[in-house]
Amino acid sequence: MEKEMSKDEFVKDVLKDLLCPICEVEHTKQMPHDATSKVYRINFVVENNRNPTWEDAMSHCDEELKQLWREELAKLGIDSKSENVRGIH
Ligand SMILES: [Zn+2]
Repeated sequence: MEKEMSKDEFVKDVLKDLLCPICEVEHTKQMPHDATSKVYRINFVVENNRNPTWEDAMSHCDEELKQLWREELAKLGIDSKSENVRGIH
């Protein structure tokens, strides 16, 4: 007999499919990870011993998307190569 899922378990299960396993933010595989995500940042620091930049967050994206993303970030005053991913000075 299958154990019935509690509501919490059900929600967790649904979210698991929607959320990226690396940054725990909802985005498609083609899109960058959320460089401002706490989970992403913690995992990145543990693995790389430094803070992530947007370039790291989008290293798996294709060049065209990266270029687009860089332009959008630049509009917000954020340098994609900077560890200051929120652009706060
Ligand atoms: Zn992600």
